[in-house]
Amino acid sequence: MTQPVSSIDNVITHSDFTQLGLIPELLETLKLLSYTTPTPIQSHMIPAVIAGKDVLGGAKTGSGKTAAFALPIIQKLAKAEPRKAGSNFVSCLVLVPTRELAQQVSDSFMRYSQLIKPNLKTLSVYGGVSTNTQMQSLRGGADIVVATPGRLIDLISSNALKLDKTHTLVLDEADRMLSLGFTEELNELLGKLPKAKQTLLFSATFPEEVRELTSSLLNNPVEVQLQDEE
Ligand code: ADP
Ligand code: MG
Repeated sequence: MTQPVSSIDNVITHSDFTQLGLIPELLETLKLLSYTTPTPIQSHMIPAVIAGKDVLGGAKTGSGKTAAFALPIIQKLAKAEPRKAGSNFVSCLVLVPTRELAQQVSDSFMRYSQLIKPNLKTLSVYGGVSTNTQMQSLRGGADIVVATPGRLIDLISSNALKLDKTHTLVLDEADRMLSLGFTEELNELLGKLPKAKQTLLFSATFPEEVRELTSSLLNNPVEVQLQDEE
C-alpha cells in the first residue's frame, strides 16, 4: 500500500478522472485505454500541473507517474498557441536517463495525445542510433522532445534544435540520471533553458545531489511523495 503525503494542506484525493480538470479529449482517451481510476500520484499531480505549479514527485516505477505528468502537459500544449512552423523550437522537454525510458515515455505521450487536434509532434532522441535521422525529424521543431542528455547536447550543438522557447521541463528519474554520471550534461542543458518555465522533477530517492538540484531548479513546488506504509 502507498500513502500519498503532500505539502499542500488543501489537497483532495479524487477518485475520478472527471474531477481533475482534464479536457474532454483526454477523458475520452482515458476511456479508450480503460483507465477508470486515477492512481494517487495522478490525482494529486494532474490538478497541480494544470494550475501551472512546479512539482516535486517522489514515487517508484509503476505508480502511474508518466500519465501524471504527460496528461496535464498534453492539455497545456493543446490549449497553447500552435507551434510556429519552420523553427527548431521545442515546447516541452522531458529528460530521462536511458534510451529505453525515452522510447517508453514518448510512446506514452503519443498514446495519451491521440485525440488531440491538431496533432502534437512528439519525438524521442537518444544515443546509439544515427544522429542524422533524429536531425531530420527535428526539422520544424517539436511540441514534445523526450531525450537522454548526451545526445540532446550533440543535437543542440549542431543546431538541430533550440531550447530558447521551452516552457515546460520534466526530469524523470532524476536520481538515476545523476548516478549514471549525467550531472555535467544536465547542468549544461539547464543553462540553455529559459528561466521562466514550469518544471516537474521526479525521483525515487532523494540523496544530497538530488536535493541540491531540486532546490536550485524548482520554484515553490508542490510536493507529492508516495511512501510505502510501514
Ligand atoms: P511509472 O512511470 O510510475 O512507472 P506509468 O505511468 O508508466 O508509471 O504507468 C505504469 C503502467 O500503468 C502503464 O502500463 C500504464 O499504462 C498503466 N497506468 C497508468 N495509470 C493508470 C490508471 N490510472 N489506470 C490504469 N492503468 C494505468
Ligand atoms: Mg516511469
